[in-house]
Amino acid sequence: MKFQIIMLSALIVLTACSSSSTGRKQIKLFSSAELDQMGESSFEEMKKNTAISQDKATNDFVQCVASAITKNVAKSVHQGDWEVVVFDSAQVNAFALPGGKIGVYTGILNVTETQDQLGAIIGHEVGHVIEHHSNERLSANKIQGIGMTAATTAAGMVEFENKDMWMAGLGMGIQYGLIMPYSRSHESEADIVGQDLMARSGFDPKASVKLWQNMAAFSASSGQTAPAEFMSTHPSNETRIKQLSEHLSVSMKYYDKNQAPNCVKPKIIPKPA
Ligand SMILES: [Zn+2]
Repeated sequence: MKFQIIMLSALIVLTACSSSSTGRKQIKLFSSAELDQMGESSFEEMKKNTAISQDKATNDFVQCVASAITKNVAKSVHQGDWEVVVFDSAQVNAFALPGGKIGVYTGILNVTETQDQLGAIIGHEVGHVIEHHSNERLSANKIQGIGMTAATTAAGMVEFENKDMWMAGLGMGIQYGLIMPYSRSHESEADIVGQDLMARSGFDPKASVKLWQNMAAFSASSGQTAPAEFMSTHPSNETRIKQLSEHLSVSMKYYDKNQAPNCVKPKIIPKPA
C-alpha cells in the first residue's frame, strides 16, 4: 500500500508541476475556474458574516489604491473587474482571493500611514493570487488526503468533503474572519512580487520597508499574536525587512512616478461599531 501511495503522489507531482515567477517549483492540481469559484464563494461568505464599512472617505481611499494596483495585474490572473470591500473590523488584516476579490479591514488602515504603504499591503496580497499560492496550499492538502485514504479510494482521487477544507486552503480559516498564515516561502514570494507590482503602479517601493517597520512596532505595542496574515511570525519582521530592502535595487527600476495616484487617506477612520 505504501508503494501505491508513493506512485500516486509521484504521478500527481509529475502531471501538475510548474514554476512560480521567482522560479520556485509548484504543484497545482486545481484549475483556475475551480479556484475562482472557491474565491468568489468564500468572499460572499465573508460579506455575509462581517460588517462592511459604509464610510465614504475610507472606501474611496481603499478603492483608489486598489484600482491603481489591479490595473497593472495581467488579465491572465483575472479577466474582469476586481471587487474590493472594506470590512469594518479592528483586525490588522487584508486578503486577496482568486476570482478578483480583495478585502481590507479598517484596522489595518491605522498601521498604513500613506497610500504607498497601503499599496504595499495590497500589492503583497495580490502577489499571493498572481503566484497561485491558494492552489498550491489546496493541492498540498489534497495530496495529504490522498495519502491517508488511498487504500480505500479506488480511483485515487479524493474530493474535499466539506467547504471548510477548501476555505482553509484559500487561507480563509474555518471560523470566518480568521485569515490563516501562509508558509514562509509564500510570504517571501508575495513580498517580492508585491513590491515590483506596487512600484509599477506608481507607489514608492521603499514604503514596503517602512510598512513592515510599522507592523513590527504595532505588533510589539499591541501584543497581538493572532495567527493572522500580518501577525504571523514567519518570516520574522527582521527577515522580511532585510529581504524587502535588498529587493529595492530591482523594484526601484520599475518605480513609475508618473503613475502615482492621488489617494487621500481620511484623517479619521471610524472605529468599528
Ligand atoms: Zn502574505
